Amino acid sequence: MVLLQQINFSGVFQCPSVNLTLVHRRRMRVHRSICSQAQTTIAPSRTQRIMEGISVNGEAGGAGGAYSYEALKRLDKIWSGICSAQTVFQEPRQVVSSIPGLFSRSDMDEKAVDTYDVIVCGGTLGIFIATALTCKGLRVAVVERNILKGREQEWNISRKELLELVESGILVEDDIDQATASKFNPNRCGFEGKGEIWVEDILNLGVSPVKLIEIVKKRFISLGGVILEGHCVSNICIYEDAAVLQLAEGKILSSNLIVDAMGNFSPVVKQIRRSRKPDGVCLVVGSCARGFKNNSTSDVIYSSSSVKKVGDSEVQLFWEAFPSGSNPLDRTTYMFTYLDPQPESPKLEELLEAFWDLMPEYQGVSLDNLEILRVVYGIFPTYRDRWFMFYTSKASNWIWHLRN
Ligand SMILES: Cc1cc2nc3c(=O)[nH]c(=O)nc-3n(C[C@H](O)[C@H](O)[C@H](O)COP(=O)(O)OP(=O)(O)OC[C@H]3O[C@@H](n4cnc5c(N)ncnc54)[C@H](O)[C@@H]3O)c2cc1C
Repeated sequence: MVLLQQINFSGVFQCPSVNLTLVHRRRMRVHRSICSQAQTTIAPSRTQRIMEGISVNGEAGGAGGAYSYEALKRLDKIWSGICSAQTVFQEPRQVVSSIPGLFSRSDMDEKAVDTYDVIVCGGTLGIFIATALTCKGLRVAVVERNILKGREQEWNISRKELLELVESGILVEDDIDQATASKFNPNRCGFEGKGEIWVEDILNLGVSPVKLIEIVKKRFISLGGVILEGHCVSNICIYEDAAVLQLAEGKILSSNLIVDAMGNFSPVVKQIRRSRKPDGVCLVVGSCARGFKNNSTSDVIYSSSSVKKVGDSEVQLFWEAFPSGSNPLDRTTYMFTYLDPQPESPKLEELLEAFWDLMPEYQGVSLDNLEILRVVYGIFPTYRDRWFMFYTSKASNWIWHLRN
């Protein structure tokens, strides 16, 4: 809802009784402009009020790691750009180029500071593959533009999936217990009016990304891995004998293989896709809130059968809800939807406005009895054709692109 606020500027617009000089006229124009801007000030949305009432600290670089209202507005701007585009929303920057000839015979070779078997770009899930490769005896570096740390918001996962990380040598079983903040069973899958299925041990662990990434980071370093934090991937040059990474800060690293783990908004993906508009998008919003008395089970997926109007669109909403490890009364609730990006598609903030209306009914609580600890949101672009590896025209197998 948009409200126009009336603002009292008493005393500002008293007209002078004598002839107006040029200076007076200019002042008047400035005052009028201030007044008209003030009159169109938009009242803060419920989302803004809630988010600005929470102190945000420890935001992380990865998906779902930012909780501030400013970060929400930034993501909504990106999302609006995607929605309003026709098929291509901007020419992508050429991040990866194929260079004829040998790196070892180029001028660049002298400038390279270090050589690795593999360089992993992007640290959230990147540190896991980097550690697995280090376990195989390879010399690996991870380049992360922020400080490499996990987000506060827990990851929901099954123990079976974590055991795969133990099998590949990334974790030991003790690490799973250390990083597990909550366990809950049974887990519901339900569609309103169509019945429910209750399962056990599916996405029934809440793992602390802060702890898990800290553990893996230590293991990686102890195995000889190198982490370059606060370094941004700028360019990748594929020579016939090496894949060379240039960092925005000026460093040059060479390797046999570069792995792209820079997430959904990776500049490499943008180039591969030629900035093509995604075919579909999953939008997710949610909160972690305190005050849930019935908080022992989870919803892996729950959907109401009817579509809801959000903004100018009709959307099918799905829910997930899990106990959170921070307190027995804390619960995370996600609301998500799948849509084709169109100019009329709802913004994340509009979805959050719907979330505050619908979540209490879905969870059987009153918003007044909840303390909102964190507001979370994200965008997952999807394409009909899936990519896993990136091939340049000259040299194949130099870059892998990973998707979670
Ligand atoms: C609200 C929300 C809830 C979620 N919940 C779960 C969950 O419960 N379980 C689950 O498994 N998944 C969940 N996800 C999915 C989430 O996408 C993954 O958990 C995980 O964050 C994906 O990791 P990633 O490394 O692929 O990408 P990202 O998390 O996006 O990490 C990419 C990394 O690359 C870095 N980077 C980007 N560009 C550059 C550059 N130019 N140079 C250097 N570094 C760069 C970024 O700083 C970042 O650290 C959730 C997502 C959201 C938004």
